[in-house]
Amino acid sequence: MGTTLNKGEKMVSKRTEDLIRWDEEHIIHPCASAVGHNTGLVIEKGHGVWLQDTEGKQYIDMAAGLGYCVLGHGRKEIIDAVVEQMTNLELNHTFFGLSNVKNIEYAKKLAEITPEGLDHFFFCSGGSEAVDSAIKIARLYWSLQGKNKWKIVCFHGGFHGLSGGSTWASSAGNGVFMEGIGPQAPGFIFAPFYYCNSCVFELQYPECNMQCTRYLAKVIENEGVGTVAAFMAEPVMGNAGQIPPPPEYWPIARKTCDKHNILMIADEVQSGFTKTGKMFGLENWGVKPDIMVMAKGISSGYVPFGAVAINDRVYQVLKDNSFWHGYTYSGHPVACAASTAALNIYVRDKLTENAAKVGKHIMERLEAEFKPLPCVGGFSGLGLMIGIDIVADKTTKSPLSPAIRDSIWHQMLEKGLLSRPIAGYGDIRLFVCPPCVITLEEVDKMLDILLPIIAAIKPS
Ligand code: PLP
Repeated sequence: MGTTLNKGEKMVSKRTEDLIRWDEEHIIHPCASAVGHNTGLVIEKGHGVWLQDTEGKQYIDMAAGLGYCVLGHGRKEIIDAVVEQMTNLELNHTFFGLSNVKNIEYAKKLAEITPEGLDHFFFCSGGSEAVDSAIKIARLYWSLQGKNKWKIVCFHGGFHGLSGGSTWASSAGNGVFMEGIGPQAPGFIFAPFYYCNSCVFELQYPECNMQCTRYLAKVIENEGVGTVAAFMAEPVMGNAGQIPPPPEYWPIARKTCDKHNILMIADEVQSGFTKTGKMFGLENWGVKPDIMVMAKGISSGYVPFGAVAINDRVYQVLKDNSFWHGYTYSGHPVACAASTAALNIYVRDKLTENAAKVGKHIMERLEAEFKPLPCVGGFSGLGLMIGIDIVADKTTKSPLSPAIRDSIWHQMLEKGLLSRPIAGYGDIRLFVCPPCVITLEEVDKMLDILLPIIAAIKPS
């Protein structure tokens, strides 16, 4: 966090200059190092994996925006679906049992691609709302059965959003999100996550005997299993740096949840919708959660949207009771229309296969060409969720100075790569997670630009 692009370093047109000034006067940017801070980069257009700024310069969208742009920019099918829906009906809400056609049709379609059994949905406008809803649903599930199980076990370093509940579920690991807004809400408990490149137990996989997932059981037991509602985590860590777990992690975690009778909530906001080479991240290990949270790729970012899927176990408890939760835009038909069009493309174009194929190619090039570089401490990924550890020291994995990290970000922009500032867990991960429609040729172009930038890094 805290890395920003310095302004005023390049000549820009009067129009761009005005836009930047108005931005600074009026906009509060999310997660920027200073309120009203504009990076000096104003994006105007997008097509495929490319973005274009107000000066006409093109960038490869190397992080798929914030991980939402799975299908690339400017998809006509989605745009047409949105226009058609807006023309028919912009909105009828879904409170008090009311409905609208697109919401029902989308729910039916979504049930065809979610893991079997996870086919009851609550809709909302994004990931944070979906996470908050999942937390409430998990607590409600137990309280309706007369149980006082309300604690949520999450990961240090996990990210679930920045609304109320989702901040409490994210922040303890990531410090900055709690700065100045404390105290932390009670009932959010944190366990270390799986990160083999920088194991908190200082063990090596596989000799570690999966200490991280065994420790999860200990955390739950220490809290008192009778008080824990759910374990909520990301199948592949997203904002921590696109970090996949060892293959044993989730099957063991599922057994732990079953043994202690707690719900498993999979936050698939980043890992859902083809990115890991499967439609949903947990499908890589044949694990089914009780509650699954979706957003971002659900509409490929064309319209804000999110969803919570619950399995029959949870549904049977909830269904005959009042549910005093919802948002004005729950089941928004325009978002459902965009998401229907997106879903059709995911299935028709077999994007899981492209993500797996292109991801494998990136990993091969990282192994052969990037790993030997002095500043590359390691890399890992699954499908097109990939991160490279860019470090000052290969052995200690200490981070580069913020100034050097900034300069890498600048050079990437200069050469036409828009990723994210090097951050993630330990401030070392460079995100390589482009849209899943990217071709091998486009990926090679991206890596050909990136390689000399990383090769030239001098840690001091
Ligand atoms: N969950 C995960 C795993 C995320 O990565 C994010 C956002 O990055 C969220 C939840 C929150 O989503 P939103 O920003 O749409 O509220």
